[in-house]
Amino acid sequence: MSTEALYQEIILEHNRKPKNFREMENADRRIEGRNPLCGDSLTLWVKMDGDAIADVSFKGQGCAISKASASLMTTLVKGKSRADAEALFERFHKLVLGELSADEQKTMGSLRALGGVSKFPLRVKCASLAWHALHSALEGAADSEVSTEREGPEPPPGEGA
Ligand code: ZN
Repeated sequence: MSTEALYQEIILEHNRKPKNFREMENADRRIEGRNPLCGDSLTLWVKMDGDAIADVSFKGQGCAISKASASLMTTLVKGKSRADAEALFERFHKLVLGELSADEQKTMGSLRALGGVSKFPLRVKCASLAWHALHSALEGAADSEVSTEREGPEPPPGEGA
């Protein structure tokens, strides 16, 4: 199986059977995320234990990329400290913008399956949606909404998400 086929399979599998795809009672944070350009929407729940992410789950509708990315994200950040999760968010963001070196990409594990979106600016927003919601949750917003659409004029082409 080629690497690309393997990555495709990871995305399809997480889309078919997303992990942590459930509502959470007694969550500390609940974030609504929307990507109007594609029609992706999700709700992210986070439960903190001190400075660590005790539990994280999501539900929503959207394309395979957005769902697979949310599924992978929840499996990877559960149990991590806030700082470690934010560091992973930063590396992931660079990955989907195509800004990681080949060596850095090797440290990204199954997330590398989403690296291919760097060639498709609209898909970067799909892949980033759940991560922006997580970032917002970790910043301390108890109940808020994030959108990949920013106020004001569109960024120039090539700037990415
Ligand atoms: Zn999408």
